[in-house]
Amino acid sequence: MTVDRNEGSKKRSALDIIRNYSGPDVRIMEVCGTHTHEIFRLGIRKILPPSIRLISGPGCPVCVTPVSFIDEAIMLALDHGCTICTFGDLVRVPGTGSSLQKARGAGAKVQVVYSPADAVEYAAKHPEEQVVFLSVGFETTTPSVCLAVQAAQNDKLDNFSILTANKTMPGAYEAMKDSTDLYLYPGHVHAIVGTGICEDLAARGVSGVCAGFTASELVTALAVAVTKFEKGEPFFVNCYPRVVRAQGQPAAVRLVDSMMEPCDSEWRGIGEIPMSGMKLRDEYSQYDARVKFSLPEVKGRSNPACRCGEVLQGKCLPSDCKVFGKVCTPEHPVGACMVSGEGACSAFYLYGG
Ligand code: SF4
Repeated sequence: MTVDRNEGSKKRSALDIIRNYSGPDVRIMEVCGTHTHEIFRLGIRKILPPSIRLISGPGCPVCVTPVSFIDEAIMLALDHGCTICTFGDLVRVPGTGSSLQKARGAGAKVQVVYSPADAVEYAAKHPEEQVVFLSVGFETTTPSVCLAVQAAQNDKLDNFSILTANKTMPGAYEAMKDSTDLYLYPGHVHAIVGTGICEDLAARGVSGVCAGFTASELVTALAVAVTKFEKGEPFFVNCYPRVVRAQGQPAAVRLVDSMMEPCDSEWRGIGEIPMSGMKLRDEYSQYDARVKFSLPEVKGRSNPACRCGEVLQGKCLPSDCKVFGKVCTPEHPVGACMVSGEGACSAFYLYGG
């Protein structure tokens, strides 16, 4: 693949452009956890010159799910006898004093599912159990959660609810913009919401490129990013046009807007970002586990040794954390960034920093 550099004078390969980049130092935040892992796995970091610095951002849903959310899930399982349906990664994420995995030993019923629809199906087959689906993720996954709630409503299930920690990206882009020179925007998120937010950010001086996930797509996006950055003007380029359209997926956006509304949301290690979360609207409160089980407000405490918050903001590398690779490993994670298959700490551990 070639990238037109310097207004079409001569064409150089994208790989050449990033290998031989000689412009000003540039920090690029790869927002998406899948980007982080693919960049590591494909060895792209190893070919970058020191002037191109990649920062692993807050786009891994498990990594940014707050400690208090795990505490709430454990409370639902142990105090209210609910069956927790969740994606596998969340089972090992530490809460304040325990994890769902440890809670299993104390009698918690925790069911690993692969989609919100699986949780609805489980609830339909087990009417004697109160089933709570742990709803985490970004704009990409929220529509499927809404469809699951709709399915439960259509099937008149009164034993299904969701515990929400759904998040949206615009607040994070705002919160992180001083930690990076440009964003490698998550292709999956913008396939849903479109590119309007990226265009708006560029108009306000925040640059970025939308990137796909193959080696060719990632290298091309990085080459376009550094080439544009060198020119010194804010920019946005959609380098993933085969999937990302300017208008996104309006039907999915409408579905979410009709069932959910923005709320303030806590991001693990980062703190509260105003209006960066999504919760069910009042008319769907019977499916909101916090309302249904009258959960008290929970304040979680993360392990003081864990530096996930700084890692997620690019303020330190996973290897700067004292317990990285010693006390904290994928088998025995201390923080969420080591648990998740999309976490920066697990990527550093698996592929070497
Ligand atoms: S190495 Fe472990 S403890 Fe340290 S920041 Fe990463 S997840 Fe947290």
